[in-house]
Amino acid sequence: MREDTEASPRDLPLEPDRRAVEAMGRVVLDRVAAFAGAVAHAPASRPREAGPALADLMRPPPEKPGELEALLDTFESAARQGVDTASPGYLAYFPAGGLFSSALGELLAQVYNRFTGVADLAPALVAMEHGVLRWLCAEFGLPSGAAGLTTTGGSMATLSALVAARDDRLGDAVATGTLYATEHTHFCVERAARVAGLPAGRVRIVPTEGLRMDPAAAREMIRADRERGLRPFLLVGTGGTTSTGTVDPLAELAELARAEDLWFHVDAAYGGGFQLTARGRDRLAGIERADSIALDPHKSLFLQYGTGVLLVRDAGTLARAHRGAGHYVQDLQTVEDLPDYGYLGPELTRDYRGLRLWLPLHLHGVAAFRDALDAKLDLARDAYADLASDPLLEVPWKPDLTVVAFRVRGDDRGTRRLLDGINATGRFFVSSTRVDDRLLVRMNPTGHRTGAEHVREVLALIHEQARKNNSKAGS
Ligand SMILES: *Cc1c(COP(=O)(O)O)cnc(C)c1O
Repeated sequence: MREDTEASPRDLPLEPDRRAVEAMGRVVLDRVAAFAGAVAHAPASRPREAGPALADLMRPPPEKPGELEALLDTFESAARQGVDTASPGYLAYFPAGGLFSSALGELLAQVYNRFTGVADLAPALVAMEHGVLRWLCAEFGLPSGAAGLTTTGGSMATLSALVAARDDRLGDAVATGTLYATEHTHFCVERAARVAGLPAGRVRIVPTEGLRMDPAAAREMIRADRERGLRPFLLVGTGGTTSTGTVDPLAELAELARAEDLWFHVDAAYGGGFQLTARGRDRLAGIERADSIALDPHKSLFLQYGTGVLLVRDAGTLARAHRGAGHYVQDLQTVEDLPDYGYLGPELTRDYRGLRLWLPLHLHGVAAFRDALDAKLDLARDAYADLASDPLLEVPWKPDLTVVAFRVRGDDRGTRRLLDGINATGRFFVSSTRVDDRLLVRMNPTGHRTGAEHVREVLALIHEQARKNNSKAGS
């Protein structure tokens, strides 16, 4: 009881004293520990009706102080509703889960709240972030002039890459620019083109062969566009597509981009993390020749949502495209060998994103990530083999990375029933996609909490559902 009153003083000053910080921190940490103790068994989804009433949650903040415990209760009941992306049974879209060590780094970064948009104000903190990004550049085989920028995700990384490519290759001649992707490219590329001011319809959809961009077809489209007086400037390869986890022929695309003098961007938002493994490096071969690479540590490095990375071969391209100046920043100096993040992307003021990467990587060591990612590749390989052995199922593509897409033989109805059946258990949550106008369930066991036991369980469920559907359809 004593703690309660300490944790929720009637009039909590905006700046609490040390005792109040300790009391509030303990209350929150207790709840964090309870969450950590239970998440391994948390269902992947809960019925929407079981949650709190949305209207209650939308009440405006009161004039008078609230009670911390009661407010945290509200948060927890809200977080218990819907799809739980932290659950080991969450196999949809791109699970990450979020590492506790990263959250601790984030807490520190937020409490210290230092400005790291320019190196001059916090050179040492910027050096820590820069060190992680330089290490990533080296892992991807980029040369010493390369640099990185932490973003909030793959979409923002793609936008900055596209703006850098546009600035570098087109200058002001934006109206005639064309870029090349496939139907399996993530929509963030088309959206970035629109936001970056390219006219509609300038994202050319290159035909694919077995879900992968056909380089010969791309070459032909580039040639035809040039003849029309357009300016092809950007080729986008994907290092792990969203629907099926397929990797484009990156080495061939790199060669094409070089021959045609196009900027080569690789969207490795999902697949990028696997570069830390031998198998991943093998699958992503050619990525080292990219002009820019987008990757999402909040997908394949298990980190919290809101963590993306852009790597560029030539840091100058990013800086030139995102330059800015004003008298109010005239006191700031550049620091030798350190980047000014506020001038490498569209954001000037940003949260210090370095620690959420730096702390887990230094604390667990890189080998922990390599091993965990390797284990995810094993899970997907084994799930593929298991599903492919079921005569009721069709598993069209051996996974390049960790997305396994499959369908029930026959029309889409059986696949829909299977999808709904799995998700209705609440224990697991999977998502779907369409390829060649056929519905597919996609399952992605990439969350760090998802282990072989969970995959065994969901596979058994899938076989059982497929059998049940089949006998129903036959009766
Ligand atoms: C998830 C994804 C994106 C978008 O990234 P966000 O972090 O959600 O903005 C882009 N490209 C691919 C291939 C993806 O899988």
